[in-house]
Amino acid sequence: MELKREYPLNKIRNIGLVAHIDAGKTTTTERILFYTGRIYRIGEVDEGTSTMDWMDQERERGITITSAATYCKWNDCQINIIDTPGHVDFTVEVERALRVLDGCIVIFDVMNGVESQSETVWHQADRYNVPRIVFVNKMDRIGGDFHSVIDQIKKRLLSKPLIIQLPYYENDKFSGIIDLIDKKLILWKENAENIKDNMIISEIPEKEINKYTEYRDLLIETLSEYDEQIMDKFVHSKQITSDEIKKVIRRLTVTSKVFPVLCGSSLKNKGIQQLLDAVVDYLPSPVDIPPVKGENPDTGEIQIRNHSESDPMSALVFKIQTDSYVGKLNYIRVYSGKITTGTYIYNPRKSRKERVTRILRMHANTREDVSYALAGDIVGVIGPKWTSTGDTLCDEKHPIIYEPMQFPEPVLWVAVEPKKQQDQEKISYALNRISEEDPTFKVKVDKETGQTVISGMGELHLEIIVERIKREFNVMLNISKPHVAYRETITTKVVEEGKYIRQTGGKGQYGHVVLEIEPGDKYEFINRIKSGAIPKEYIPAVEQGVLEAMETGPIAGYNLMNIKVKLIDGSYHEVDSSELAFKMAASIALKNAVKKANPILLEPIMKIEIITPEEYVGDVISDFNARRGKITSTDIKDKLHFIYGTVPLTEMFGYATVLRSLTKGRANYIMEVSHYEEAPKEVVSSLIPQAVV
Ligand code: GDP
Repeated sequence: MELKREYPLNKIRNIGLVAHIDAGKTTTTERILFYTGRIYRIGEVDEGTSTMDWMDQERERGITITSAATYCKWNDCQINIIDTPGHVDFTVEVERALRVLDGCIVIFDVMNGVESQSETVWHQADRYNVPRIVFVNKMDRIGGDFHSVIDQIKKRLLSKPLIIQLPYYENDKFSGIIDLIDKKLILWKENAENIKDNMIISEIPEKEINKYTEYRDLLIETLSEYDEQIMDKFVHSKQITSDEIKKVIRRLTVTSKVFPVLCGSSLKNKGIQQLLDAVVDYLPSPVDIPPVKGENPDTGEIQIRNHSESDPMSALVFKIQTDSYVGKLNYIRVYSGKITTGTYIYNPRKSRKERVTRILRMHANTREDVSYALAGDIVGVIGPKWTSTGDTLCDEKHPIIYEPMQFPEPVLWVAVEPKKQQDQEKISYALNRISEEDPTFKVKVDKETGQTVISGMGELHLEIIVERIKREFNVMLNISKPHVAYRETITTKVVEEGKYIRQTGGKGQYGHVVLEIEPGDKYEFINRIKSGAIPKEYIPAVEQGVLEAMETGPIAGYNLMNIKVKLIDGSYHEVDSSELAFKMAASIALKNAVKKANPILLEPIMKIEIITPEEYVGDVISDFNARRGKITSTDIKDKLHFIYGTVPLTEMFGYATVLRSLTKGRANYIMEVSHYEEAPKEVVSSLIPQAVV
């Protein structure tokens, strides 16, 4: 059957909107959906009716917690949008989305400029090579300085902003933009009857011409650094057309050499049409980005897939949601080939065939059934049972595994118990559902105490989960005070054997593995069995055993991390070998290996930004130093001091209260997980030996 595409691949844009909380992502997404005709009325975030924020709690909190996928049309392009959250506790959502996006809009609040969260997201986007355009929002706010945001992009993000429009003010009020490419003034009517038709386009006024010329020259000069034709025309003062300029900007944006900057006010419906034009003009389609690379799960060989229907099918699962109507919904990005309902696809990580029962095209919380999806599409798939977030789905005859997404480890844990004893079963069910959806949320039952322990990215993250359980599963919980989730790792390379052999008459047990473990920058399991020393069907059980042993480190029982585990040898028995025997053998091998590999305790280190008025700087810094804090840089803006640094999470409980009393409530801080470091001896010895997470 010939599967027809509604839009050719080069007319598809898979994009996300990312920013610091409150910069205006939800408002901007709403406006985009409105201007593209996807929704018919604008729901204000502040009223809690916005289309993208569909979880009840999100409405109440006014923040987007779970990213929702949706699509819309602009000019002759299909734009698929993944909404991403801005709260620091949810960076994982951003990380997931970035992995499958081809480009994104980074929104800055003109009043706050580059905030610490946007810095993190910017660097995440650097890591995944995601091209970006910048939208400086809230230009209607008095006192906002567009050019200071530009300076911060240069200084803090070390990136090259490309100004393609300037804000235009009437009586000190933001009312339009000067378009540096088409040489136009665009004004938006404040109370237009039809807000879709709110633009007035005219000549640039005389008094603005000098400014226009200065910035237009700057734009052309920047482009000519990269393009000889533009350079030649610029040097010889020849006419350069808008199309020529746009083409070069597109090329430089797609390769992340420059980041076009636009401005506007989403709330006042100013600048959205231009933002959509820029998405179409400058952000890449799947054909503009390099083919995707993965590994053959059996041989480890690099595999390449072109963004094309004619390559074998491959897709990445970037999010899983349990939905009360359809069950387990797997959001996937199809990289190559096609996927059709009623067929089977292969999950090489789980060595399972999965059935595709339905394919859904998502629009916030409504959806449309489709019978197939093609390379470049982002859709929801129902059917797969064993698949989890980060897995690859592919054609069984052409297996490929894409690099799994990296998720930060939970840093905080609390013990929970139901208020009513009879709810115990319900909470296990609820917690397991949620942990399937959210890889940064973990549940564990402590073997010693029988306590249920949940861990996540911060207090808000855990608080929201507790509220979801109350609301969706109708269970009330008691929670303990939060504790730091330490980790353990190894510092040397060790080779260790593990055997699980039982021969007591009848059918016995036989599992035998040899593992090599060494320090890595993440957990990795590599199968290096070549000559069939262990049959292929037992390999998943070996990894299962490794993963189980990784849950309890030898120092204080914390999870192990950053270990590269290679399965290098082993043996099997025709009759007695079983999955269980191999799992046990692998657990034994890993446990013993770790003990010999000089294990250490790790503590989470936070990245922090403290903002304080000048008069309290001394007190704030000396308190910060006493918490083992390290200052990395400082900045002063309008008598406000910005202190950037890192500090162990262990030292930060109750910090909000201390900072408030030190500064009469005038200082503020934002903190997020940065990395792990070896914990000092005092911390190690203060821990109870059978700590739980
Ligand atoms: P998000 O957290 O990034 O999704 O931000 P929201 O879209 O929820 O916006 C945060 C707050 O900023 C809300 O109160 C919005 O009404 C407000 N806001 C968003 N865009 C603008 C704007 O262009 N101008 C002004 N003045 N406020 C805005």
